[in-house]
Amino acid sequence: GSGDHVPVLVVGTGYGGSVAALRLARAGVHVHMVEMGMAWDTPGSDGKIFANTTSPDGRSYWLRTKSKQPLSNFLGFPIDRAIPRYTGILDAEDFSGITVYQGRGVGGGSLVNGGMAVTPRRENFGAVLPSVNADEMYATYYPRANAGLGVGTIDPAWFDSVDCYKYARVGRKHAQRSGFPFVFVPDVYDWDYMEQEAAGTVPKSALDGEILYGNNYGKKSLQKTYLAQAKATGNVTISPLHQVTSVAPATGGGYTVVIDELRTDGSVATTKTVTADKVFFAAGSVGTSKLLTRLKATGALSGLNDEIGKGWGDNGNVMCGRANHVWDATGAVQSSIPCGGIDNWAAGGAFAEVAPLPTGIETFASFYLSITKNPNRAQFSWNAATGKVDLNWQTAWKQPSIDMAKTIFDKINAREGTIYRTDLFGVYKIWGDHLTYHPLGGAVLDRATDNYGRLHGYAGLYVIDGSLIPGNTSVNPFVTITALAERNIEKIIATDL
Ligand code: FAD
Repeated sequence: GSGDHVPVLVVGTGYGGSVAALRLARAGVHVHMVEMGMAWDTPGSDGKIFANTTSPDGRSYWLRTKSKQPLSNFLGFPIDRAIPRYTGILDAEDFSGITVYQGRGVGGGSLVNGGMAVTPRRENFGAVLPSVNADEMYATYYPRANAGLGVGTIDPAWFDSVDCYKYARVGRKHAQRSGFPFVFVPDVYDWDYMEQEAAGTVPKSALDGEILYGNNYGKKSLQKTYLAQAKATGNVTISPLHQVTSVAPATGGGYTVVIDELRTDGSVATTKTVTADKVFFAAGSVGTSKLLTRLKATGALSGLNDEIGKGWGDNGNVMCGRANHVWDATGAVQSSIPCGGIDNWAAGGAFAEVAPLPTGIETFASFYLSITKNPNRAQFSWNAATGKVDLNWQTAWKQPSIDMAKTIFDKINAREGTIYRTDLFGVYKIWGDHLTYHPLGGAVLDRATDNYGRLHGYAGLYVIDGSLIPGNTSVNPFVTITALAERNIEKIIATDL
């Protein structure tokens, strides 16, 4: 309640926040987590907590009146539909040159994501986090993160036999015939559960096309891993539908934190003020960057350094589809959980996931999300006229990503005698270059903070989420976000408590 004092306040309940909460709680510290999204622990009128991908409703989007599906079109026709405005699970946050998709709710991005849990290749790590000791990461913190997240890999024999991965086997065949390595991608989805889905013995989630708006079964989101363990300590409380709006030094020491309690229509029910000895910013790359940029510019935290808001990247995300020949059907039932990718990082700067198109009908399409070595970086800045934080990313900055993805798909198309799909992102538009799922940076490690996430200028303020990572991880980011948080919180507990 208003006026309370807490030893540690964590802003956000995604990967960084959940790691901080668990480790601090296990060290005996009382932690209060503040989350702007909903708890996602109560079924709706259909008996399910999460909406299906094929029938978005209010639960699906954060305060939108129309869905905004990443694949906006099918056969050229727009597929978005009207929905009630509600504090739903997926935020499609629009900046001038890019839409940034993010999870909203207790568990952050783990609620909406595909669960692909990829550790970068050791030789690429120096470019990901140049100031971090790679030996320590690969010996200690990546293994700790993988264990904490419950990462597993598909049984290759099952992969080879099951209908729901026909699309991925077609992807593998085409990759290999063009000389690209196809690699299995680990995931936090419970692979044993998925095998039971395929056998018809349990309720379906991945095989019912659930993804983006939450998985009702099978996926080990943070609610089932780090956050469950954190709550079990008895030292952690979570306030959903509470949004932090300000953090400023308090007169008696520590920090004054202003929090809006939200209604499910997005309006503010009450505003609360608490004090905290320490505050961890774990609101995600965009959430943390927006808060810190505004608080620096408007005077609440004017002593933050000039690195705040800088070094933001999209992890080089770009999407595309290919039209297969009729003998390369990809399957009417496709597991929504991707399990493999095409690795052309070293030669072409692209790592392409073979992604599902879980439409429920045969599409003869192969669909890919590429992560590329796009060098462009954007910056957040405070716009006093609009009272908002802007991001100066331009859509044209995706061109390097397109060029890198083409090193894979131009070659495959030439080898297979196939073409790109032009109907998935508009009318005659090949590239999904308008979005990212992987925002990174904005409060970069060893720049905006010290080498462990301590914000320069303010003792007791920390960043512990994806905003620490300067724009690219060479693979899907959450394992690296988790491992870095494990590294940083261990140091902070040892030296700052
Ligand atoms: P987040 O997980 O984003 O958590 C931040 C939390 O803070 C959110 O819950 C947010 O609501 C809350 N918050 C923000 N501002 C405030 C505020 N002011 N007050 C209170 N709370 C606030 N990554 C992978 O590695 N593999 C994948 O397969 C994958 N698939 C993805 C698919 C989709 C559709 C999306 C959107 C993302 C995907 N990602 C994937 C990316 C991954 O989910 C993110 O990189 C990750 O969640 C970021 O972790 P984080 O701790 O930085 O922040």
